[in-house]
Amino acid sequence: MGKLRRYLNKRITRQFVAMMMLSLSLILIGAVLVVVSTVTALRNYSAETTLLREKQELVSAIADHSKEVILRARGYYVYLSDYEYKQLFVEKAALDQNLIEIKKMSLSASEKEVMQNIESFFTDYFDELLPKAIEYAKTENYAALRILVSAGEDNPVNKLITYSHDLESQVRHISEQKNDQLIQKLSYLAIIFIVYILFILIVSTLLTRRVAKSIGIPLLSLTSQARNFANGDYSELELKDREDELGELARTFRMMMIQIQNKEEELVAQNEELMAQQDELHAQQEELQLAVGVMEQNENYLEKRNNLVQSLSNTLDQTELLESIITNIVSITQSDKGLIVMLDKNHDFASVGVSEQAAHQFINSLNDGVMLRAAQSKKAYSIVRDCSIGEQGYHESPMQATDLIMPILNASQEMVACMMITKVNRVISKQEEDEIAGMMIQVSLAFDKLELYEISEKQRLMTSDMLDTIQEGIQLLDLDGTTLQINRKMSDILPFFLDDTHAAKMPFEHFNAHIRSVVAQPEALIPFMEGLVQYGHYQGMRNITYEITEPDRRFIQIYCEPLYRNGVKFGLLLVHRDITKEYEVDRMKSEFVSTVSHELRTPLASVLGFAELLLHRELKPERQRKYMMTIHQEARRLTTLINDFLDLQRMESGKQTYEMKLISLTSLITEAIEVQQLSASNHQITWQDDAANAIVLADRDKLHQVIINLLSNAIKYSPNGGNIDIVSGMNNGQYFIRIEDHGLGIPPEAMKNLFNKFYRVDNTDRREIGGTGLGLAIVKEIVTKHEGKIDVQSEFGQGSIFTVSLPIAEQSTQAESETTSSTVWNEASIQVMLVENDHNLATLLSDELLASGFQVHLFKEGTLAINAIEKLNPDIVVVDLMLEAGVTGWDIVSKIKKTDLLLNIPIIISSAFEEKEKASQWGITEFLVKPYLPGKLSAAISRMLR
Ligand code: ADP
Repeated sequence: MGKLRRYLNKRITRQFVAMMMLSLSLILIGAVLVVVSTVTALRNYSAETTLLREKQELVSAIADHSKEVILRARGYYVYLSDYEYKQLFVEKAALDQNLIEIKKMSLSASEKEVMQNIESFFTDYFDELLPKAIEYAKTENYAALRILVSAGEDNPVNKLITYSHDLESQVRHISEQKNDQLIQKLSYLAIIFIVYILFILIVSTLLTRRVAKSIGIPLLSLTSQARNFANGDYSELELKDREDELGELARTFRMMMIQIQNKEEELVAQNEELMAQQDELHAQQEELQLAVGVMEQNENYLEKRNNLVQSLSNTLDQTELLESIITNIVSITQSDKGLIVMLDKNHDFASVGVSEQAAHQFINSLNDGVMLRAAQSKKAYSIVRDCSIGEQGYHESPMQATDLIMPILNASQEMVACMMITKVNRVISKQEEDEIAGMMIQVSLAFDKLELYEISEKQRLMTSDMLDTIQEGIQLLDLDGTTLQINRKMSDILPFFLDDTHAAKMPFEHFNAHIRSVVAQPEALIPFMEGLVQYGHYQGMRNITYEITEPDRRFIQIYCEPLYRNGVKFGLLLVHRDITKEYEVDRMKSEFVSTVSHELRTPLASVLGFAELLLHRELKPERQRKYMMTIHQEARRLTTLINDFLDLQRMESGKQTYEMKLISLTSLITEAIEVQQLSASNHQITWQDDAANAIVLADRDKLHQVIINLLSNAIKYSPNGGNIDIVSGMNNGQYFIRIEDHGLGIPPEAMKNLFNKFYRVDNTDRREIGGTGLGLAIVKEIVTKHEGKIDVQSEFGQGSIFTVSLPIAEQSTQAESETTSSTVWNEASIQVMLVENDHNLATLLSDELLASGFQVHLFKEGTLAINAIEKLNPDIVVVDLMLEAGVTGWDIVSKIKKTDLLLNIPIIISSAFEEKEKASQWGITEFLVKPYLPGKLSAAISRMLR
């Protein structure tokens, strides 16, 4: 016990915990006792009442079954029903069972007696009374039955029923009694428990008070002792013998007080020392203040110098640089005025406090004035002089001023500028002079920098001008793919370089993002670019072609070269070449080849086919003629096609020559109608000529071709026939020829491309109609060359109107004569030298000439013709340009033109190449372009001889 007390006394917390545990344990024990007694009372109550109720239920069941047995027996006596008889025994079995069960229970003596009576009654009943009664019933001896039954079914059953009722009311009564007893018992228990709890509460309050007192009072005394100690009263602490936390606190407090007392003495000593140090510091502070003053001055000077250096390094403009130098120097040196002058031919200058006139005076005397000494010695020097009137101001007593003159030298120690500063009524010390000389080194460095900048800027501009003049887009990338530089053409090709604010240094991702929006297949270009940036090539390729869709469709080829400096790769140069034209030409070429092969092969197939038939079959003359006509037609079609192709080729190469003459429009249209009417059996061509005698300045053949093309289109594109109406007339000071058909018409969307080369309207109606898409392009070209215009109006499905307008010719010369003068020669006397190396054509042409009555000398080789010509001295020469190897028609022409005897012989060139320009240089005007109808040659000879 003593041990426990000591253990608890050591800690206040332990005492509290012990108290709490004791109270809680007592409450718990009380609660457990109450619960146990309650549960026991409840259990007893429940056992007693259950037993009573079970007994009562069994007794009432025995009474019920007894009644049933008697009733079922009586039913059987009356009705003799088997069912009643069976039920009688079911009830007997239940009754026996209940009797066995009740006998197992504890019964009082009277109860036992009742049960035994019942049992013996039913034994007699079933052994004797029932068989007899059944006997009487069956023999219908009801009088005997009645006697038997009334004598036998007597009291035991009735007694049982009465007993059952008694038992029931007895059970109810006992239950109520037990209930009251239980409630009473429980109430006692509750009151006892409350009293018990109150008792525990009182005990624990008393205990708590005692413990609190043993803590609170010592704490109060400790506080007052602490306060006394703070006021300097040291007294012995009372609690230091206690073992618990308070004792520990008191002991610590005591130690602390002892320590504080010791420290106090130490601090007093230190304080005295500090006082002495403070005096010393005061003295030092005064010294420092003086030093700070000097430092501030230096800082001020350095700041100004820093400003000068900064402005020098920030400025790359000469005027700004001069301004900044002089302002800063005057301010740093606290001068009154100053001037700086460049020594180049412009003598740019800047000044502070110096008038313009005075500045010019200084500049004009540079080679002769105060500057001369500085220029020669390349060193600064100062002059002390009397002040000028202006400098003197309102001061009356004479004053002096000091000028400092300084040369500014470049890196090669040449003087590039000079400077002068003035201090009025003050001297410039030697130290100041040295400082200013130091600053001049900085100034000359700035001049060097400016010079270098100007040189590199010039270089940069030159490089950028060079790049801008290149017709390819140039793009310089670093190793990360960032665009470092582009030229002007590059931004023409990819305008996003102009819009993007990062254009000067466009990151690779920006470039790719832009590419995605303007290039047709970025999925090909972007990996290529990534390959270039990473490895310098993409799958071994260094060039690619891409298509730009915005703002207009173009094809660009990229070519890449890596850039090296000192053997180290530092970037990539991409060249973007606009190959749209080449691309278009390629596309047109392939279209051209497929159109040409289709358009040439189709007529050739029928020419070959029909010619074969004519050669190998015996045919009737009409059939022969029909086939020959087809061959002729197809051959003409082929000729037109070839001529169109050649015309186009000449137009594109700019080699087309136009022989402009005054010609009659009327005769031209008449001729065209005649030619076209032949192939237009379905169509009726009408012509209203409101401009008879109209003369235009034109190439006859070309204008003829225009009208033929338009007329043949009108016929071709009205496959169901109909009228073709031509009207020629004058309108707005121009001649016009209008050709109207009532055929297929042109869909509106096709209008804008109609005059483009190879353009054909593609719809089902016209698939069968042959063509190359060149006719209208040629028409437009020719009309434009004649300073005319072509217009088209059309309603799809209704027909089209093509109108050609041509300027009216100034009729200073007579129009080409259309009438033919009468023949003045005899054909048989005309010797024609025909040089043609193609056997068939030679035969055809010589037959034609012979048929026209001329004498023909045919040469199939140029050399033979050259050798024979002088001897033959023909009246006219017809020459093909392409002859055997090594000789051309031009050799024959040259021979004629260089031989006096032959000089005047008229020459006709018959060639597939239209070299009219060269011919006219030799003075040859007749040029027949193959293929032509043989009749044309005779006509040309006649024309020449005329
Ligand atoms: P081609 O007739 O050889 O196809 P063109 O250059 O002469 O070539 O004509 C171009 C296209 O214009 C033709 O394919 C045709 O569909 C259309 N065209 C020209 N003239 C007419 C016309 N008079 N009526 C209807 N369509 C026409």
